[in-house]
Amino acid sequence: MTNLLDLQLNELEELIVSLNEPKFRAKQVYDWLYKGKDIDEMKNIPSGLKEKLKEVSYVSLPEIERVQVSSLDGTRKYLYSYGDIAIESVFMKYKFGNSICVSTQAGCRMGCRFCASTINGLDRNLSPGEIMGEILQAMNDTGERISHIVLMGTGEPFDNYENVSKFLRLVNSKEGLNIGWRNITVSTCGLVPYIDRFGDDFREVNLAISLHEPNDEKRNALMPVNRSYSLSELIPACRRYTEKTGRRITFEYTLVKAVNDRDCDAQELASLLKGMLCHVNLIPLNAVKETGFSTVEKARALEFQKMLEKKGIPTTIRREMGDDIDAACGQLRLEKNH
Ligand code: SAH
Repeated sequence: MTNLLDLQLNELEELIVSLNEPKFRAKQVYDWLYKGKDIDEMKNIPSGLKEKLKEVSYVSLPEIERVQVSSLDGTRKYLYSYGDIAIESVFMKYKFGNSICVSTQAGCRMGCRFCASTINGLDRNLSPGEIMGEILQAMNDTGERISHIVLMGTGEPFDNYENVSKFLRLVNSKEGLNIGWRNITVSTCGLVPYIDRFGDDFREVNLAISLHEPNDEKRNALMPVNRSYSLSELIPACRRYTEKTGRRITFEYTLVKAVNDRDCDAQELASLLKGMLCHVNLIPLNAVKETGFSTVEKARALEFQKMLEKKGIPTTIRREMGDDIDAACGQLRLEKNH
């Protein structure tokens, strides 16, 4: 069975022609798909074609198992199901438009110590169409357009590179969601070979790197991926990326109390990033009870920011969205799987 959301328009044309139907039907079907509709809901499509399509294909729209809605800012946190797996997405309203944070894998095998998504390991990769389904279902549910996408939900995008690449092309395509490259951000924990590849393949998409520690000894302890790709490989790869693309890298730095929030951590971080076209986004930890780590006070985050800025590193503190529904990323899914 083909997932219609996995297809570019030309691939859908091939499918429709192979069913002995006129090629122009493909564009009509495609329009319905990107309005978030399932095959049965496609109004101007002859029922004969719909029946043929249903024999060979389907549309991966996830079931909404739960939605948590913030009464403060309208943030909506979805727990979706694809039958065998549960995943999460978060819809956020900003002044510049609506943004969605999508998952790229069900679970994760990267093992970052503070993260809820990796606690039970990886269930499986999501297909391009399944990642797309997260967005279309949020559009169906809110009735709103989405203009920005961040790949910062559950999963490591570069551990599912082929599917994520295809998803990015679908999201950007004129006949699909038509979302501009610069409105998309991909976040990685630092799979170095893919940083180079991504710089070649997607020059205009924003890249964020989850750094979280300023030296190898500490990063090895918090993020096992560092034992495969140490900072001595990661940082040069980031410099190569900025030189190649001319684009600023965002370094995410989750502040964990008494782990990476000391003055000397800020100093070491500033020296590590010195001279790079980058900025640091400080994320006060969202405490996950299974991991035992604590978050920092707001005042400490501000001090940390000041220390970095004094050393010339542009630094922001991530705005808390949906503070009243602040279950950390991956926690709804974790609860469900228990
Ligand atoms: N695997 C990718 C993308 C998903 S995680 C990556 O590592 O970048 C998105 C961001 O949220 C990462 O920076 C991750 O380290 C961070 N994160 C994970 N759990 C968190 C938590 N409990 N509190 C704050 N940030 C967290």
